[in-house]
Amino acid sequence: NICNKCRINRSLSTNLPSSRRYSPDRTRLFINGEFVESKTDNWIPVYNPATNELVTHVPETTPQELKDAAESAAEAFKSWRKTSILTRQQILLDLQLLIRKDTDKIAKSITEEQGKTFADAKGDVLRGRQVVENACGITNLLMGEKLAVATDMDTYTMREPLGVTAGICPFNFPAMIPLWMFPLSIAAGNTMIIKPSERDPGAMMILAKLAKKAGVPNGVLTVVHGSVGTVNFLCDNEHIKAISFVGSDKVGKYIYQRGTSNGKRVQANLGAKNHGVIMPDANKNLTLNQLTGAAFGAAGQRCMALSTAVFVGEAQEWLPELVERAKKLKITGGFEPDADIGPLISRDAKARVERLVRSGVDQGAKLLLDGRNPRVPDKYKSGNFIGPTILSNVTMDMNCYKEEIFGPVLVCLSVDTLNEAIDLINKNPYGNGTAIFTNSGSNARYFAHNIEVGQIGINVPIPVPLPMFSFTGNRASIQGDINFYGKSGLQFYTQSKTVTALWRHEDVNHTKSAVNMPT
Ligand code: NAD
Repeated sequence: NICNKCRINRSLSTNLPSSRRYSPDRTRLFINGEFVESKTDNWIPVYNPATNELVTHVPETTPQELKDAAESAAEAFKSWRKTSILTRQQILLDLQLLIRKDTDKIAKSITEEQGKTFADAKGDVLRGRQVVENACGITNLLMGEKLAVATDMDTYTMREPLGVTAGICPFNFPAMIPLWMFPLSIAAGNTMIIKPSERDPGAMMILAKLAKKAGVPNGVLTVVHGSVGTVNFLCDNEHIKAISFVGSDKVGKYIYQRGTSNGKRVQANLGAKNHGVIMPDANKNLTLNQLTGAAFGAAGQRCMALSTAVFVGEAQEWLPELVERAKKLKITGGFEPDADIGPLISRDAKARVERLVRSGVDQGAKLLLDGRNPRVPDKYKSGNFIGPTILSNVTMDMNCYKEEIFGPVLVCLSVDTLNEAIDLINKNPYGNGTAIFTNSGSNARYFAHNIEVGQIGINVPIPVPLPMFSFTGNRASIQGDINFYGKSGLQFYTQSKTVTALWRHEDVNHTKSAVNMPT
């Protein structure tokens, strides 16, 4: 069932009209500094989520290609680890500039393959580029510690690279998440193999071109594609010492288990259910704007989307106004200048979100705003669109509360006090992000100290930390204990060594051996 012309497996793209099934475009592999076409017979189609037209095909990288990729990354590590930190810094400085110049090009690829609006896609690139900019400070970031323990003895630490590292990425931030991974890893002297999501590989391919142009040597950055087979290889291959994963719970737990049982370091950022607490003393206008943007922006496909609102006391009277604001958002293809909300990544994702909305209604929630089957311009009729949807009277036993929806759906709960809101959030298994909207400093401080969530916003709806800090997800939102980027990121990609040196100036002719533990 393979197309002779492009060797594409027809069975993978059969539910579309024949004119849309095959594309001459195939996404390449980036191995040992070369962009090469895979020899696979197994190609995964990538569709534009706004139209469901074919954009490209992604290869399931063959076992031999994966082996070549890992071996070239291992070979490149031998010389890369010996480069001076200043050399690596210069390359990163050039890379950040090239990314800055090509922001629109990368963003265009993101909108085409992932669906988010062009303005939002530029934010995806910016938030990733900030990690590169931070990694340019590697000369300071990698400094160790030193203590003159005595006049003749020093103890100092060094941080050394691990070897080949791997990064496995989700679809929702095709630029930012790979940029959480490879710039810091290679700045620290490692080599890295990135596997972008098979649903939107384009941004990473542009980043690989820019890395090559910036002078990243052959084999230091590698890009392979595919799904389960490629991931299993990365979890098992002997050259790979550490794996960074961002994605869904099920896959993250699997990779954590498989990778760690093979003796690798694994950091895995998983799913989320982020609650926003709305206090009646908050600035109403600001809060409703923030809530609307954070719940529905990027069609709710952000791991830090504020998908659950907890109204405290009289704040629940603001719900009708929230609905009015959400209704004003424009649902259309991401390249349209007035677009607020683009499509969901796939037809399956759309069906899943619709199912969870339906389950909410069936289980007793009130559908204040129904975004299913939204009106979109004709050219987007086949796209995977859902408009802003608001469910109120939601309770903790409903599926729409328990599951991560990952769509433009805000579920709303009501409580009487801040303490009840805190209890409710702490009972939820996830601990990625949360926010409180209030004008009371003492409420905000009380919340920040009593909430068991990794990232807390105070009048900030999506508190993704800047890269001088780390992304500190908590509880079921993370597997492993070393966070992404910032100081933790470097800790993850390096091994500490502690050297204790004795340079005795006197007494060197002493003949009796010391047998006790030195003090
Ligand atoms: P996903 O888990 O489906 O895919 C992530 C990666 O895993 C992809 O590269 C994919 O090819 C691979 N993969 C998928 N199925 C696999 C399998 N059965 N075996 C091995 N590998 C497999 O995630 P997604 O849908 O691309 O991303 C959305 C999820 O990512 C959401 O749950 C979101 O919350 C989460 N996310 C979390 C963070 C965070 O920092 N906590 C950030 C972004 C996204």
